[in-house]
Amino acid sequence: MSKVPGSPKKIVVIGSSNTDMVIRTPAIPRPGETVLGGEFFMAPGGKGANQAVAAARAGGEVHFIARVGDDLFGRQSLEGFLRDGIHVDHVVRDKAAPSGVALIIVGPDGENSIAVASGANSRLAVEDVTKAKPVIATADIVLTQLESPLEAVREAAAIAASAGVPVLLNPAPARELGEDILKRVDYLTPNETEAEILTGITLIKKSDLAKAADILMAKGVRKAVLITLGAKGVYVATAGKKEVVPAFRVIPVDTTAAGDAFNGALAVAIAEGKALLDAAQFANAAAALATTKMGAQPSLAARAEIEGLLA
Ligand code: ADP
Repeated sequence: MSKVPGSPKKIVVIGSSNTDMVIRTPAIPRPGETVLGGEFFMAPGGKGANQAVAAARAGGEVHFIARVGDDLFGRQSLEGFLRDGIHVDHVVRDKAAPSGVALIIVGPDGENSIAVASGANSRLAVEDVTKAKPVIATADIVLTQLESPLEAVREAAAIAASAGVPVLLNPAPARELGEDILKRVDYLTPNETEAEILTGITLIKKSDLAKAADILMAKGVRKAVLITLGAKGVYVATAGKKEVVPAFRVIPVDTTAAGDAFNGALAVAIAEGKALLDAAQFANAAAALATTKMGAQPSLAARAEIEGLLA
C-alpha cells in the first residue's frame, strides 16, 4: 500500500491493448448489409489499456501488464501510455504476433458494434504476470478484464488475493467464470448483458438485478457487485445494501469506452478509500464524460473534468 496519505494510489492493470479503427455510420449494418459511413479515424483502445489510461487520468499511479506487437501500432500505444504517465516496464513487445486491432462501427445514437483481432493480447502469459508479482503484491488495487487469457487473469487475482490486495474485475467481454476466479474478486462490474451471461437471469425488473447480484455474491464475489446500466447509471449491491446510483445527464456522441472509463475511475476511487457509493458516483461522472467524445482513449477524462462534473 502507498504509505504517504494524499499521494497517488498504485493501480495495477492487467489487460489488452488494441488500435481501434472507427467508422461512424447512419445505421449499424446488419449481416449482409453494406452501409456507406462517414469519416474514419484511428485511436488507441483495448479494454485493459483504456482502463489503465482512465485510471491514470483519474489520478492513479498506474502500472500496466500487457503485450503489444513489435510494430507501429504497438509503438504508438506505448508512446500514448508514456504520455499518460503509465509505468510500462511490464508491457511486453512480442516479436511473434501483431498488435491487437478492433474494428468499431458507431451508429447515430452513439451505440457501437465491435470486432477484435487480439494478436499479441492473446499471448499474455502467466509468466508475464508472475514477473510482475512485486508490483501486484504492493498495489492498492488490481484491475483486470476478460479480453486477456483467463490463466493470466487468474494468476493476477491469485497473487493479489494472497497479498491482501483488492481485485476489481470487469467481466468484459462476457464469458462464463468459475468460482476459482470469483472467490478472489472483491468488486465485480458487469454490464447488463454480462450479468445475464454470468448468472442466467434475464434482467427486466429491479428485483432481477438483486437476484443476479445475490447469485454473483454467492459464487464468491467478496465485497460488491456493480451492474452498470448505461444511461441509467449503476446498480450497486453489497451484502447489506442495494441501490441504483443514477448516471449523469449528458448528450452522448460515442459510448465506446464508457465502461472502461467507469472501471478505471472506480479503481482509483476505491483505492483512495472513498465510500462505495461515492466511488460509484465518481465512476459515473468519468463514464458520462467519456460518452461525450469520440474514440476510446481520446475520450477519457482528466481528474479535474471529473471533479468539475461532480461539483
Ligand atoms: P458498457 O459500456 O461496458 O456496455 P454501460 O453501457 O453500462 O457499460 O455504461 C457504463 C457506464 O457508463 C454507466 O454505468 C454510466 O455511468 C455511463 N454511461 C453509459 N451510457 C451513458 C449515457 N448515455 N449517459 C450517461 N452516462 C452513461
